[in-house]
Amino acid sequence: MSGTKKVILIVEDEQQNRKLIRDVLQLKGYRTIEAVNGVEGVEMAKQYKPDLILMDVQLPVMDGIEATRIIKEDNITQTIPVVAITAYAMPGDKERVLNAGCTDYISKPVHIKELLSRVADYLEERNTESSTANHHE
Ligand code: MN
Repeated sequence: MSGTKKVILIVEDEQQNRKLIRDVLQLKGYRTIEAVNGVEGVEMAKQYKPDLILMDVQLPVMDGIEATRIIKEDNITQTIPVVAITAYAMPGDKERVLNAGCTDYISKPVHIKELLSRVADYLEERNTESSTANHHE
């Protein structure tokens, strides 16, 4: 991985899940920071302005839906992509997550391949967007 490491904020209250996500992302060369509830997630997003946020939906103090709404209403943090991590599988839940401003979502249990490909999508998209748009070979 070249250049400055991308920073990913993991907002997740379950310790085992947080460790899994952290280990996988660090192994891939990303920097990670962590929050364990929605309020802390909002504060850390503002303070560190990460390149991407992975947001668990079910969180204590403030859930991931509300935290995402606040992040998306704040000028400082609104451009940061938020990928929700949700245990819900109903069609209405996807809508709820996307309506709050999440860019996308992955479902629990977290599959490592899916997690990494989604993370790569959003982190690399912003760098390669203009160059790929100009290359039709
Ligand atoms: Mn949770």
